[in-house]
Amino acid sequence: MKVYLNGKLYDKEDAKVSVFDHGLLYGDGVFEGIRVYSGLIFKLREHVDRLFASARVIMLTIPLTSQQVVDAVRMTLRANGLKDAYIRLVVTRGVGDLGLDPRKCKQPTTFIITDRIVLYPEVLYRQGLSIVTVPTRRNIPEALSPQVKSLNYLNNIMAKIEAINNGSEEALMLNQAGYVAECTGDNIFMVRDGALLTPPNHLGALCGITAACVVELARKRRIPVSEAVMTRYDLFNADEVFLTGTAAEVIPVVKIDGRTIGDGKPGRVTKVLMADFRKRTTLDGVRV
Ligand code: PMP
Repeated sequence: MKVYLNGKLYDKEDAKVSVFDHGLLYGDGVFEGIRVYSGLIFKLREHVDRLFASARVIMLTIPLTSQQVVDAVRMTLRANGLKDAYIRLVVTRGVGDLGLDPRKCKQPTTFIITDRIVLYPEVLYRQGLSIVTVPTRRNIPEALSPQVKSLNYLNNIMAKIEAINNGSEEALMLNQAGYVAECTGDNIFMVRDGALLTPPNHLGALCGITAACVVELARKRRIPVSEAVMTRYDLFNADEVFLTGTAAEVIPVVKIDGRTIGDGKPGRVTKVLMADFRKRTTLDGVRV
């Protein structure tokens, strides 16, 4: 496997970053996870734009233009002969000293890993996930905007650990005020009376690229879509719930905190959108 690192391709074993890299020392950096379906890189522009937006906020200058990032991603995929893949695109602050000061980091580190990923077993897409609300609240936007897809994922990892400790694969994260924000790596939707509802991003969710695609697909089917401030009460009383994310795609949720959602099976709207999404991933994208 070849890994892109600062402009060159290296064998996996030789793709190494320094222990003084602030990405490692402080989680100081940004990243994207991107999918490739049948030789088409899904929503590559959107992901690259979000990477640059995250970098701008943390005042990290990506040492490539967005076109150069696109070219580097394609080059890495081609070197590995991959037509279906998961791409991890990372830019860190680079090598510095042991202090926080980012000015000491003269050259950002850029790397691209292309691999395969299976987040959840196929059976969970047919039967649905059981998730739990965790005590760890989503980071407050005033401390670090959840829109910044940074290398600092401990907030989400804490939540994931708490879910696993409670026998569940995924965590429902509330914000400081107790409203539903998102899951550890996915956005959340509910269906009620045939309409699709999702929390507004300002409540503490990443503006998901998969979520935006699902909203577009729902609108095409004339399913009403709106943002809604929601609590666990609303989710418990939803007809259907599902999650969206680059890695998870669209996955049904059939149980939350022991409460059965709807009839306990993936719902009709969820199944329609799952199928539409799968179809959509093969329709367009940047060719490898
Ligand atoms: N929320 C969080 C915290 C995430 O890490 C992700 C995955 N990157 C998402 C939501 C889903 O976003 P997307 O659909 O753009 O992958």
